[in-house]
Amino acid sequence: MDERHDEATSAGVASRAAEPECREALDVLYHYLDGELDEERRRTIRHHLELCSPCLEAFDFEAELKVVIAQRCRESVPDSLRDRVASALAEASRASRYRP
Ligand SMILES: [Zn+2]
Repeated sequence: MDERHDEATSAGVASRAAEPECREALDVLYHYLDGELDEERRRTIRHHLELCSPCLEAFDFEAELKVVIAQRCRESVPDSLRDRVASALAEASRASRYRP
């Protein structure tokens, strides 16, 4: 009885768009936008985006957001603040090293 129920559930989810490729694409979204993927993986993702509009929309949104954030940071963050952020981050990573 349980088995039959499981089958129906997973079939419903799959038809709604949870393709393994979609999950993988969204999984590496940030790496893709940061240019951290190798050529082959980029090609795989791009190919998937051509075929899959929900993923393409998600990528477009994140890409735009990233550009906006990058511009805002470049325009409005003074060097002194950036230095303080950098040293705060350095301190945080130094502190985390003391943790067991
Ligand atoms: Zn997809």
